[in-house]
Amino acid sequence: MKKFIYLFDEGNKDMKDLLGGKGANLAEMTHIGLPVPTGFTITTEACSEFYNQDKKIWDELKEEICENIKKLEEKTGKTFGYGENPLLVSVRSGAAVSMPGMMDTILNLGLNDITVESLAKITNNERLAWDSYRRFIQMFGDVVKEVPKYKFDIIMDKVKESKGITSDLDLDVDDLKLITRKFKDLYAEETGEDFYSDPMEQLVSAVKAVFNSWNNPRAIIYRELNEITGLPGTAVNVQSMVFGNMGTNSGTGVAFTRNPSTGENKIFGEYLMNAQGEDVVAGIRTPESIDKLAEEMPDMFNEFMNICHILEKHYKDMQDMEFTIERGKFYMLQTRNGKRTSKAAINIAVDMVEEGLITKEEAILRIDPKSIDQLLHKTFSKEGLKEAKEMGEGLAASPGAASGKVYFDCKAIKENGGGILVRVETSPEDIEGMNIADGILTVRGGMTSHAAVVARGMGKCCVCGCSELTINEEKRELESRGIIIKEGEYISLDGSSGKVYMGEVPKTEIELSGAFEKFINWVDEVRDLGVRMNADTPRDCATGLKFGAEGIGLCRTEHMFFGEERIWAVREMIVSNSRLERDRALAKIYPFQKKDFHDIFELMNGKPVTVRLLDPPLHEFLPKGEADQKKLAELMGKPFSSIQERISYLHEVNPMLGHRGCRLAITYPEIYEMQAKAIIDAALEVKEQGIDVKPEIMIPLVVEKNELKYVKERIKEAIEEVFAKKKTRIDYKIGTMVEVPRACLTADEIAEEAEFFSFGTNDLTQITFGFSRDDAGKFIKEYVDKNIFEKDPFISIDRNGVGQLMRMAIEKGRKTRPEIKLGICGEHGGEPRSVEFCNELGLNYVSCSPYRILIAKIAAAQGKIKQSK
Ligand code: PEP
Ligand code: MG
Repeated sequence: MKKFIYLFDEGNKDMKDLLGGKGANLAEMTHIGLPVPTGFTITTEACSEFYNQDKKIWDELKEEICENIKKLEEKTGKTFGYGENPLLVSVRSGAAVSMPGMMDTILNLGLNDITVESLAKITNNERLAWDSYRRFIQMFGDVVKEVPKYKFDIIMDKVKESKGITSDLDLDVDDLKLITRKFKDLYAEETGEDFYSDPMEQLVSAVKAVFNSWNNPRAIIYRELNEITGLPGTAVNVQSMVFGNMGTNSGTGVAFTRNPSTGENKIFGEYLMNAQGEDVVAGIRTPESIDKLAEEMPDMFNEFMNICHILEKHYKDMQDMEFTIERGKFYMLQTRNGKRTSKAAINIAVDMVEEGLITKEEAILRIDPKSIDQLLHKTFSKEGLKEAKEMGEGLAASPGAASGKVYFDCKAIKENGGGILVRVETSPEDIEGMNIADGILTVRGGMTSHAAVVARGMGKCCVCGCSELTINEEKRELESRGIIIKEGEYISLDGSSGKVYMGEVPKTEIELSGAFEKFINWVDEVRDLGVRMNADTPRDCATGLKFGAEGIGLCRTEHMFFGEERIWAVREMIVSNSRLERDRALAKIYPFQKKDFHDIFELMNGKPVTVRLLDPPLHEFLPKGEADQKKLAELMGKPFSSIQERISYLHEVNPMLGHRGCRLAITYPEIYEMQAKAIIDAALEVKEQGIDVKPEIMIPLVVEKNELKYVKERIKEAIEEVFAKKKTRIDYKIGTMVEVPRACLTADEIAEEAEFFSFGTNDLTQITFGFSRDDAGKFIKEYVDKNIFEKDPFISIDRNGVGQLMRMAIEKGRKTRPEIKLGICGEHGGEPRSVEFCNELGLNYVSCSPYRILIAKIAAAQGKIKQSK
């Protein structure tokens, strides 16, 4: 017969899948000789079988429970449900992964009208016995039979009121007897049956309730939110009771071995004397800091410190524990690896390496790369969020916490020197405003929309695609979930959760500590994968360098034109009808370009800089309103109608698949020629200053070798002109983005012309799936919610599809050119799972926005460590 129950001394910490986290750790503590009240665990497999058996506790399991209760009786010398020394137990759920959404604890199970008297006698404490009994009926009624808790509270309150007292502690034995009777009456009224006096019946019902709680809505939502899948169910822990409420030499508490907020290596926790576990959390009495236990019960404190030491050494991690002291004897009720802030996580990991508890590799694997965001950006304070009113949710596009007055256009943002820019979507015209704004909120757009990409590059908090929000331009107000915010009123954005709040939510600032630097040095020692940044301006470069960027993997030149002065020159260039007109516009752009490249090369000081030549989806650049179109006509000295005509000629139905990238250079090669000249001209200038320069020129959206060959020849000729004029040369590379499936399929041919490949996984994902990157936000969430996709492929690389194309391109590319340099510069380059995949593929580097450099570095090191295991 299959074994469904394990005594604590039969299990160990590695049996989490079967015994749940709590059960496995209780077994482990028993095993290493810590004082744990004896008990047993009903396995997660039993939970799964319970569902197979139509949610019934089958006879064999009942028998197994009975046998194990007998074993507990033997071990404790107590008897279950009768006798002078009654065995009482607690019943708790516990899955392999801690799930706060599941069932609460039931304490004091085994009490009935007979055992309550015995308990009173044996403890010589009648009050304790009746207080325990009334608590048990309340918990059992609430948790097992769903009798509303408030109905029990009303009874308690009425009795207190009639006695003129406010504290539970002032209730005497008679009051508690009265309350117990009333509780039983309530129970009978609500459930239609008497309160169970048979303890086995109590226990079986409690076990059933725990199993049922596995699928209660809270637990299901918790699993969904935390992406917990594939677990068979919850285990149930049945443990003999110890009492923290047996008098002044008894107590109960919770503690962490180190401070979970700062990581300080000092015990952190609280306790209450003469109390049961729930009192500490319920807030009825104010608990004492654990330090006080050292004065109040030094022996107990020392024993606890010793246990903390043993547990940390054993688990090699910070522990979160529950304990009870019963009449001067110390018991451990739970231990698990404690949750902590990212600051604490780093400090603890570094300290533990230095204490010789763990290796550097183990320390690196312990840090969730994504949590590093918390360290780099201001966050809303926990207390602030508790009070805050949530009014919408979009995509967490760029981390950070921002509060400010709402403005609906950049003019207002500029006039007010900041605020939250709220737009249906953003476009290059908004760039200056976005730069000044404290945060950005859009109604439309996905994770790679203009707003998201630009905001991440700027390290600016952004929530995009918040479709429940409507903007009323006329009234200058927005509406979401029935809340109306007028222009000039405050909202707050959480760029890490995608949530939007009403009003101003208070923030906390986190400092990067010395331990953090040490940690990153270890990460740098371990990883093979290089980490570059996507940076378009000297300011981005400075940020990325601060975080240790090893070069620029993508400098999007179209982003350099967003300034007010420049965008008009670019527009002129785009709407030009003739080579002459275009040359005139290009001549205006040239000095800006050269100056930008100069500044970037100077800052990058010899690190490689990949400059991508122009790739402007035309819809992002053309002037939209009539006023802007008239202004352009004026600037170009042309009739308004001719500009309108040209704009309508340039209009594209699918601009993302339109006249973009190198297609533009096939029709107007002079654009790339100008850019290549500006790059090399600037590089030579910087070289003259004695600074090393490594320019890499990158051609976007290539689909065919001959296309690249044509563009490359034009660029090279232009560059030779600069060399001839300056009478000096410099090394440079020409490569291509690989961002179209055909480029992957023909990568062996393309590699004949390309010295490097950089995977543009934004477009590669868009075109492989056939999902518009600007519109997919509308439906992708449904795919994830309905488990059709595990992840949004625009966020995390789709290994089966896009990943396969990448693998093929790498293989083919290396076959033609073994030394070809390979990188990635799509948004995936800063997403931990994708970075690990890039490590697996053997890329040379990933490139991501400056604020994600550290995340990418940690993920790269983790990938390497996992690979070598
Ligand atoms: C890409 O397509 O992945 C890329 C980096 O280019 P862009 O996002 O500018 O199209
Ligand atoms: Mg692209």
